[in-house]
Amino acid sequence: MTDQELYEKAKLYGQNALLWRQKFTGLLPEVNRRRLHERHGFGSIFEFAYKLAGLSEQQVKNALNLEASFTNKPTLKALLENGQVSINKLVRVQSVATQENESFWANQAQVLSKKALETLVRDERIVSQPKVLPGQDLQFSASVQSRLHELQAKGIDLDQLLTEFLDQREGKIAQEKEAIAENLPVATSRQVPARTRRVVRAENGTKCSIPTCQRSATEIHHTQTFALSRRHDPHYLAPLCKAHHQIAHAINLKVLEKRREAVG
Ligand SMILES: [Zn+2]
Ligand SMILES: [Zn+2]
Repeated sequence: MTDQELYEKAKLYGQNALLWRQKFTGLLPEVNRRRLHERHGFGSIFEFAYKLAGLSEQQVKNALNLEASFTNKPTLKALLENGQVSINKLVRVQSVATQENESFWANQAQVLSKKALETLVRDERIVSQPKVLPGQDLQFSASVQSRLHELQAKGIDLDQLLTEFLDQREGKIAQEKEAIAENLPVATSRQVPARTRRVVRAENGTKCSIPTCQRSATEIHHTQTFALSRRHDPHYLAPLCKAHHQIAHAINLKVLEKRREAVG
């Protein structure tokens, strides 16, 4: 067996082990309801789960708690019981799922990685909280402060000055995007050209362009599916962090599936 083969085999077995353990975990609420463990000589449901599948006490508790909180959420309950989705993901979803939105969250839990799901849950929490505006205490360097003070002392309206500056900046960015979009060649690769990347960066800064997200942007997403458009049009590019990029694609995929269903 080569190193690569051994590695592939280990990965496959590992994935299967996780899947079967997930399925086992899904059975626990029903085993517990029937007190099946007692009839087979196990001191507790915890002993049952540990001896049969090596589950920790916490993992068993999570499964039982989830089952209890999903009593009025049949879609999520089914995902738990048939072991389709990991307990770790369901625990995340539990904090935001309601009777009304449970099928949305059941979908996301199946499509997204644990990390992306965490991000989406966090966004949901932030959206449902009152908004705190970032930058409420703006800080300028001493030299900028002294220049602004000077201008203010001369009777110049700082608010108007800064508004003009911000409008100018936006105008310049819009012009540059227009110039790039005007004669846009069919792209030969997914790699966004340097000039286009610069204007996207100038517009969006360094952070992920999802308003609630404070992570650095690491990838540029084509909001018009690149495979179809084959264009790097700066009007349809959004810098995203890795997690939000994955979410964007998972949602696109769902929309495409829905369309196909509607057509077919
Ligand atoms: Zn993308
Ligand atoms: Zn993000």
